[in-house]
Amino acid sequence: MKSIRLKPGKERSLQRRHPWVFDGAVAKGSADPGETVRVDDAEGHFLGWGACSPASKIRVRMWSFEQAQRVDAAFFRERLRAAIALRDRLAVPSDGVRLVHAEADGLPGLVVDRYGDTLVAQFGAAGVERWKPVIADALLELTGLTRLYERSDTSSRQLEGLPVASGWLRGDGETALVLREHGWQLGLDIASGHKTGYYLDQRDNRAICRDLVQRFQLAEVLNCYSYTGGFSVAALAGGAQRVVSVDSSGPALQQAAANVARNGLDAARCEWLDADVNATLRRFIAEGRQFDAIVLDPPKLAPTAAHAERAARAYKDINRLGFKLLRPGGVLITFSCSGGVGVGLFHKIVAAAGLEAGVDGVFLQRLGGAPDHPMTVQFPEGEYLKGLVVMRRPGP
Ligand code: SAH
Repeated sequence: MKSIRLKPGKERSLQRRHPWVFDGAVAKGSADPGETVRVDDAEGHFLGWGACSPASKIRVRMWSFEQAQRVDAAFFRERLRAAIALRDRLAVPSDGVRLVHAEADGLPGLVVDRYGDTLVAQFGAAGVERWKPVIADALLELTGLTRLYERSDTSSRQLEGLPVASGWLRGDGETALVLREHGWQLGLDIASGHKTGYYLDQRDNRAICRDLVQRFQLAEVLNCYSYTGGFSVAALAGGAQRVVSVDSSGPALQQAAANVARNGLDAARCEWLDADVNATLRRFIAEGRQFDAIVLDPPKLAPTAAHAERAARAYKDINRLGFKLLRPGGVLITFSCSGGVGVGLFHKIVAAAGLEAGVDGVFLQRLGGAPDHPMTVQFPEGEYLKGLVVMRRPGP
């Protein structure tokens, strides 16, 4: 068994069961991509077992901190079993469920989503790449399913020195699927869609959007960064009279329109704009348009804390524009999925945007990712999706 020795003082994060060892912490030792290594402190005391990734700045991703733990097929089967068992307890109101959320489930780099009878996996690090066949077999055995599609085309693969890979790993068939979320039918394509095909992390927030539209009778809704229209369907289901959806992806908007039809909702209430959100918000302001609810769900603007400052300006910009388009009594539902922008900073950004827009805003609710995308006590980096519901105070 190969081992990696850390520099003095670099053992502390592993003692707190943080799953990453950065290259700068390593004094000596290496191994092949994905190979299991023993990680020791500077004195040679055991810290844990991990997967080496010689090409990556994250040199080791930890599997276990128990000296007696063997990293073998049984280990992966047990981690996967525990991850799936947690989801069973969560009683997710959808047949689209994140079964494995990487570091949070003790499987660094591995994401597995289930869409009905189909599994979609992303192998984002050298460790899980090396164990791919074992993981694939265990997933099918534990779920009783036969179809597993690979979407290992994330940018993290490049940082790990791994080529992109996508296609059927087990079974085959159509990649266009329909999932059921809150009783809605939503089409997606696991081969060409974003991530594994759909944004499961926003599931609970779509239900909250529907409920807000219903409770406050929000007639005109603007859904920015709509992707395949999850929030658009939610708003229509809540009784919205008009929903304008904006996204820069034509195929996503086509899927969104199909999703409205699939649910028997009124296509005549929908407007689809294949356009840049920022430019569209500015145009609407110039035209004097206003809305009763606005959803802002932009892509990740700050991948790490180092990008936070520039991203903060971009978030403030779109939120300020959003506030300006809000009618009194209207509701802004705004998100950031940037790991580099924490909950506190996001709150400050949105508050500053409201002030700059001259809007009297009331924070009604804080939102987060759905619980099948868990955060853990050992891994603060796992915190990424956060949202705020802000009402523009109704006029006198
Ligand atoms: N709200 C969606 C997920 C949004 S993901 C849901 O519930 O499923 C972010 C979306 O922003 C993607 O669909 C992407 O195509 C779109 N996008 C990225 N940059 C954009 C821009 N500048 N203008 C408009 N859309 C953009």
